[in-house]
Amino acid sequence: MKIMSALLSSALLVAAPATAQQTAPRADQLAFRDLYQELVETDTTLSAGSCTLAAERMAARLKAAGFGDDKLTLFADPGHPKEGGLVAVFPGTSKTAKPILLIAHIDVVEAKRADWERDPFKMVEENGYFYGRGTLDDKGQAAIWTDTLIRFRKEGYKPKRTIKLALTCGEETNGAFNGAEWLAANKRDLIDAEFALNEGGGGDSDGKGHVIGQSVQVGEKTFANFRLETRNAGGHSSVPVRDNAIYQLARALTRIDEYEFPVEMTDTTRRFFSEAGAARGDETGKAMAALAADPADKAAEAIVNKDRFLHGNIRTTCVATLLDGGHAPNALPQRAGANINCRIFPGHPIEQIKAELEKVIGDPGVTVTQLPPKRPAPPAPPLDPKVIGPMERLVARYWPGLKVIPSMANGYTDATFLGAVGIPTYGIPGIWGDPDGNGVHGLNERVEVKAVYVGRDFMYDLVKAYADKP
Ligand SMILES: [Zn+2]
Repeated sequence: MKIMSALLSSALLVAAPATAQQTAPRADQLAFRDLYQELVETDTTLSAGSCTLAAERMAARLKAAGFGDDKLTLFADPGHPKEGGLVAVFPGTSKTAKPILLIAHIDVVEAKRADWERDPFKMVEENGYFYGRGTLDDKGQAAIWTDTLIRFRKEGYKPKRTIKLALTCGEETNGAFNGAEWLAANKRDLIDAEFALNEGGGGDSDGKGHVIGQSVQVGEKTFANFRLETRNAGGHSSVPVRDNAIYQLARALTRIDEYEFPVEMTDTTRRFFSEAGAARGDETGKAMAALAADPADKAAEAIVNKDRFLHGNIRTTCVATLLDGGHAPNALPQRAGANINCRIFPGHPIEQIKAELEKVIGDPGVTVTQLPPKRPAPPAPPLDPKVIGPMERLVARYWPGLKVIPSMANGYTDATFLGAVGIPTYGIPGIWGDPDGNGVHGLNERVEVKAVYVGRDFMYDLVKAYADKP
């Protein structure tokens, strides 16, 4: 899900005019709402739900709209029967134009009824919001993609490009069976596309009905966990010796703490630092613009580093997150260990980061081992005008005065798996969220009704723009 909200809200002070007053939903919006509700109300948590059932229900909707069985691929790994997904194909007329892929995950973060104000698996419309787990992350997008294909089919639309849809499971739980990873490894041809449209971008509202920013996510960091371990013969704590597993580990951790990975920028982050920095206009904003112009500007870097998001957006970071060691209060430790969580700037092989950690530690007595799950580390997608251009034009039309800002996420989505098999993946603008984060991954998840309906029209137009002009 989108991680940038707070920053963009403070970065962009230009407010677009509030969109039209609340009007009665159109007939096509009501048809969509029904599909959306069915998807939200199909529990897809890892503990108790079924992505497979949700995928089957969306496949049934597509089938009812005229999609043949040969255009629908339901998939599930036998070891994970409830974590399945769906690929749908809407063929284009051109023999040479490459397909585009619309992707959304249909699994959701766990939600306890007792903690929520309303049933998380009932979609409730109240005070201009849709409430329910996944209404924003990411079933809004999944429902809109599915509904867009249904609309195209019903309208007899003939796209030049083939349009593909992938609804996948396992995005929210690290190490769970991941549908995007599975498709990339096993069904590369089925999902082959020139580029993919995904979650991770989106709009920001001021919380008072105005959309104040729209962003496209271009690239994200990947992650790796490393176990640091020291071992020692140990002994009685009444006769300590210099050589001690805990102190040895502590020295290694101190070196990692004191080490700062070098500043790096992609085309996207350079543009983000320049444009979002200029829009802020404060001390941090000026430093952002200066750093974009000259990444070696140490004074600007020092100011930028004070903001924790920006600090992590311009480099790889590695931080200690778990610690263990020793076996008795009166014994010298035989073993000490720590987990180091690294968020890796796009394009660096994990082995390179491991080697860098070993160099920083400078002690062969400290072993560094990468732990599963192992994520790929693809380069960031290009700032391709063919992809970004239609977003810019449509954002200007839907929200006059707003400019779509490209940004790189410090977190990650399924884009990593697609990028690793050569499908550049972009988190699209469109649906917007509120300054408080909308309860995504937390309590009482909600999304503005208008954000869904306007976002849906925007996404429909966006897909057409790509499909019409390969
Ligand atoms: Zn998500």
